[in-house]
Amino acid sequence: MKYVLVTGGVVSGLGKGVTASSIGVILKACGLRVTSIKIDPYLNTDAGTMSPFEHGEVFVLDDGGEVDLDLGNYERFLDIKLTRDNNITTGKIYQAVIDKERRGDYLGKTVQVVPHITDAIQEWIERVAMIPVDGKEGPADVCVIELGGTIGDIESMPFIEALGQFSYRVGADNFCLIHVSLVPVLSVVGEQKTKPTQHSVRGLRSLGLTPNILACRSTKELEENVKAKLCQFCHVSAENIISLYDVSNIWHVPLLLKDQKAHEAILKALNLIGVANEPALVEWKSRAELSDMLHEPVRIAMVGKYTGLSDSYLSVLKALLHASVACHMKLFIEWIPSSDLEDATAKENPESYKAAWNLLKGADGVLVPGGFGDRGVQGKIIAAKYARENKIPFLGICLGMQIAVIEFTRSVLGLQDANSTEFDPNTSNPCVIFMPEGSKTHMGGTMRLGSRRTYFQVADCLSAKLYGNKSFIDERHRHRYEVNPDMVAQLEDAGLSFTGKDESGQRMEIVELSSHPFYVGVQFHPEFKSRPGKPSALFLGLIAAACGQLDAVLKKSGTKTTAMSNGTSAIKSHQYGNADKTPNWSLGVVYSNGNGVHC
Ligand code: GLN
Repeated sequence: MKYVLVTGGVVSGLGKGVTASSIGVILKACGLRVTSIKIDPYLNTDAGTMSPFEHGEVFVLDDGGEVDLDLGNYERFLDIKLTRDNNITTGKIYQAVIDKERRGDYLGKTVQVVPHITDAIQEWIERVAMIPVDGKEGPADVCVIELGGTIGDIESMPFIEALGQFSYRVGADNFCLIHVSLVPVLSVVGEQKTKPTQHSVRGLRSLGLTPNILACRSTKELEENVKAKLCQFCHVSAENIISLYDVSNIWHVPLLLKDQKAHEAILKALNLIGVANEPALVEWKSRAELSDMLHEPVRIAMVGKYTGLSDSYLSVLKALLHASVACHMKLFIEWIPSSDLEDATAKENPESYKAAWNLLKGADGVLVPGGFGDRGVQGKIIAAKYARENKIPFLGICLGMQIAVIEFTRSVLGLQDANSTEFDPNTSNPCVIFMPEGSKTHMGGTMRLGSRRTYFQVADCLSAKLYGNKSFIDERHRHRYEVNPDMVAQLEDAGLSFTGKDESGQRMEIVELSSHPFYVGVQFHPEFKSRPGKPSALFLGLIAAACGQLDAVLKKSGTKTTAMSNGTSAIKSHQYGNADKTPNWSLGVVYSNGNGVHC
């Protein structure tokens, strides 16, 4: 096994995750099998308890692992399926060591950070690196390890020590360290500054790690004299200094690496020259370029809790983007804080109310994503009602599906107090109820997590067709509440079809309105399995319905082609990003608040 370690210096938020995923992409394009590990030095055992509005979304894996969103980037970029153990946290390592201590496995020894924690880290990495993640048998050739945080953080110290020992243990030919750093520009003189990188490399060396490659984030390409300076002061050869400047969308990052021959530097460090091929990135290149050229807008209203951190819905945004690119449409996201649609806002803040309604009315499609807690629920119900009554394409995900059911029960069945017991435990019409898979009395671990099977109930329903007429699908879940099976017959009689159920027939997985061009709610999260070039079926359906391509998509579903229009007219390049000097990799999506997003 060969290891590529990616560390970060100077500041966080440099796009280390995208860089590490992109390194994986070029190595894979060289014909190597790649796996990845993300190390998060925080104490939480997993991301399940962390607020998406502070840390970004909780990404869910097939095995039910609730992990850091960077694992989503790896899965999407490398088209792999990771396990919960591919995300290492301080909490997990300490828990494993303490459990061992309690069992008496340390035979009376004093248990210490060095060597017990550091050994546990190394053993974990070696064990997890061997797990196949690409559907083939046997271990991958290369494991990309991303160390979260910034060099110098107190909490990453045990990991740095462990990785220093690890590099020595596996040998220089099997270990390549790539340090991602920042080269800022001081606006007064406009000069690219190398000092922060020098300091951070010095810090890295003082901790026993020597970088093979420097990946420098900057707004513009690194100037030659700047590279020369970095060479001299950081003791890294010029061909091993990669300039990662701002690009119009993140799919260009693997291409940037290839153009600067980063793969050669990595393969040389890993003694793989001659074993691997030249990277084949034709598909990546055409997708990155296509994405830049798209100009015809498709506007999707995202009705949820919006607090300014678009990472909270990262996989949903990416799934929308994959589908839009497949339909040759430029994606515009209209963020609508759901509470702004409520009547109360009309009185308290008429401006916000008007703005929210204008955005909703101007949208080609409406998406209500997953969520917890009752804040803004009423506004989401209003949005679902608006989409249903006005025949606007609608996709409800998890909570979004429950919202659609509540809205239908209230408006069509006329049961005004219908609700989820999550929001009103005493409602007389509980159309969404707590349905744990395990214990009913024990709250801990009652979440239904990970991959579960959905069986289509009707062969010619929209969702079955979009999924290529399969009889069942496996998608990922993260919820506690579900549609009340006792109310299903009543809802179906009124026109709401439950077209997908679990194997018991008791858990409703997909709901559709056959009298509507595209009104779909799903209890699962299809966004987690969407890939560039392989958009998730339901997101493709939403975007296609929103831009008048649904019939074409339905005709083609089941075949491999996903591009729906020729999209070659009036080519105009869009550049999004902040005007200041902070490096920023745009996702290529435009938001109604005027900002691009960096990753
Ligand atoms: N809060 C809802 C539940 O627990 C929905 C969860 C979600 O949207 N992920 O069932």
